[in-house]
Amino acid sequence: MTASLFHATSPASDVPSPVGVALLGATGSIGKSALKVLERQRDRFVPVAMTANGNAAALAEQVAQFGPAYVGLVQGSVEAPSGWGRGPECLVEAATHPDASIVINAVVGAAGLPATLAALRQGKRVALANKETLVVAGDIVTRTAREHGAELVPVDSEHSAILQCLAGRQPHEVKRLILTASGGPFRTWPAERIAQATRADALKHPTWQMGSKITIDSATLANKALEVIEAHHLFGVPYDRIEVVVHPQSIIHSFVEFVDGSVLAQMGVPSMELPILYALTWPERVADTGVPSFDPVALGGLTFEHVRHEQFPMLGLGISAGRAGGAAPAVFNAANEEAVAQFLAGALSFGGIAERVAEALQDLAGAPGDSLETLLAADAAARDHVKSRIAQEA
Ligand code: NAD
Ligand code: MG
Repeated sequence: MTASLFHATSPASDVPSPVGVALLGATGSIGKSALKVLERQRDRFVPVAMTANGNAAALAEQVAQFGPAYVGLVQGSVEAPSGWGRGPECLVEAATHPDASIVINAVVGAAGLPATLAALRQGKRVALANKETLVVAGDIVTRTAREHGAELVPVDSEHSAILQCLAGRQPHEVKRLILTASGGPFRTWPAERIAQATRADALKHPTWQMGSKITIDSATLANKALEVIEAHHLFGVPYDRIEVVVHPQSIIHSFVEFVDGSVLAQMGVPSMELPILYALTWPERVADTGVPSFDPVALGGLTFEHVRHEQFPMLGLGISAGRAGGAAPAVFNAANEEAVAQFLAGALSFGGIAERVAEALQDLAGAPGDSLETLLAADAAARDHVKSRIAQEA
């Protein structure tokens, strides 16, 4: 009788227990996708800590399903069960939970930074959706990861694509990174129409279903600026070797060009479940049923266009801030967060987002940014700058 290699069974005691995962921002778009992945991969991973900002009811439902040991709600004023952690500290408490080896940071905005740093200081793997973490304090975050032997693995689809293309390669073999951008809902609109776009127009993303802040960032192309800065820090590639190309179908998630002229691309239907799973299992791949089988014929054509920088000034503003370094990227990020919040609240026009961010950069980009304290001060000053300009105009 021949034993089949594929049906070898191991004694129960050999089966490794699932790896503990802390999920920050469980109720958001990435958080919900992550829970779908964790549910399918429950033999490998188990949620041990979960947090949300203010939606206690949605979090309670998830907690009832997954039963994590730790639950945290950031907004102290919202009613919640007595056993839950409360306030912004709950993000760090979840990220440093002793049962969690991996932290999925799916919080939106600079609010995610302290938890990323805390997890890295404990040598944990951070599966990072929260790109703002790297934009605000990229040097400090990557240094912390190195010093503590911790892994910072991107969830962002473009960076996951680059990571996959780079597997087995050395830094000197890489010539250029080319990030793809869908172009957002205003890809073909004239500038005057874009400036007056409504909230509803801007929230209609052509290819991705995401939280409202990143959806607006995708409409202004600020998201791609954040991603260029994120790629610079994650992969240690200088800004003059990172480019952006518009690819409306969002099938190719990014390219890497190598020094011999060969180009690799990673592709797949637009679903964040793929990069979330890869961030958990990297450098391995595991079987999963999260996305439909790839059908190139059904996808039809893949097309590429230059970025229209004149109509989308946020991309250039953000990349210049990244190049300038210091406090400039933190100012860009914070001014953008505030301007987007004001746009969503109806207090600022779509065109006003880039105007307010440009002013904040002009006045504050030269501020010191050599420590976490100075970066957080620049972040706070940029938010105040945008708020006061909008208040003056009202
Ligand atoms: P979302 O708004 O849908 O969800 C955000 C989550 O963070 C929610 O659970 C919310 O409760 C929590 N949160 C919000 N503000 C918070 C605060 N101040 N403190 C603590 N928690 C807070 O956002 P999203 O679309 O899931 O995006 C999350 C992050 O992932 C962002 O950084 C975004 O840029 C990045 N990202 C998202 C996608 C996507 O497809 N949605 C793709 C790539 C990267
Ligand atoms: Mg992305």
